[in-house]
Amino acid sequence: MQILDGKQAAQSIKNELGIAVAQRVAEGKKTPHLAAILVGNNGASETYVAAKVKACQEVGFRSTLIRFEDTVSENKLLEKIEDLNNDPDIDGILVQLPLPKHISDENVINTIVPDKDVDGFHPVNIGRMVQGQPTFVPATPHGIMLLLEHYRIETKGKHAVVIGRSNIVGRPMSILLSENSNPGNCTVTICHSQTKNLKEICLQADIIVAALGRPEFVTADMVKDGVIIVDVGITRVEDASKKSGFKLKGDVNFDAVSSKASWITPVPGGVGPMTIAALLKNTFRSCESKN
Ligand code: NAP
Repeated sequence: MQILDGKQAAQSIKNELGIAVAQRVAEGKKTPHLAAILVGNNGASETYVAAKVKACQEVGFRSTLIRFEDTVSENKLLEKIEDLNNDPDIDGILVQLPLPKHISDENVINTIVPDKDVDGFHPVNIGRMVQGQPTFVPATPHGIMLLLEHYRIETKGKHAVVIGRSNIVGRPMSILLSENSNPGNCTVTICHSQTKNLKEICLQADIIVAALGRPEFVTADMVKDGVIIVDVGITRVEDASKKSGFKLKGDVNFDAVSSKASWITPVPGGVGPMTIAALLKNTFRSCESKN
């Protein structure tokens, strides 16, 4: 078994970006600038946004963190997004999900102008991705494709099973893996909570992408020898022995499944850092295309 080390792969992407940013600055060009909006103080969201801001600093981007109380009205949030849309210094806008229940994710996503939508959630960008056109690809599936590319994982002709069909992970992942590209060219099965015989389907998989948010759901009896495992899940599970009071668990039972896998991502240190690396790449691309 070999580890698909997202931390290491992300570092090499960040190193490349750092050099490219320094070169832009040396040429007198604009520094890439990401604006992140955080609503409320959900612990996990705070951690993710802090990691994104830190990654911007590492590669030499500017970043602006805009915080709102969780009582903020949808209108006020949309107005802020419009301001950022119109601000020529801002290259990328991300709104950390989930949002409070009184705010519509859809309205927020649709308000971000597509050419600053570095999370790749806007329907225009999703449409372009489906047609295989250049676009901002959603950061988590994009990061997974970069990870497979980094480790030169052969995906052509393989049967990939994606568990989860969310708009931000499972569904775009299934589309990217089925594209006529490298990595890509897989035969893809997408599964969800209504899938029958999930275990039988997983047993046929050469590649499993687990993105359902159920800790240790994928067990050794569900996978065949040599399977490639990408574990997207991150769930905080209580752990009194930790200072924070919790530990992070993936959707795969790592200890048992890793004995059968040829490649596997750890949690943490697998998909998470790659999601951030993909976000940075999207932001850099946005800056380059405008300036
Ligand atoms: P989500 O929106 O809750 O979607 C979960 C999907 O899993 C749904 O399609 C659901 O099916 C399916 N599902 C739930 N229980 C199932 C079961 N027992 N069998 C088969 N399918 C089942 O979650 P998400 O936003 O895609 O995130 C998934 C996980 O990835 C979470 O743990 C999240 O924290 C993590 N995540 C990690 C990163 C990262 O950077 N590492 C980024 C994003 C998300 P239905 O559609 O039928 O309900």
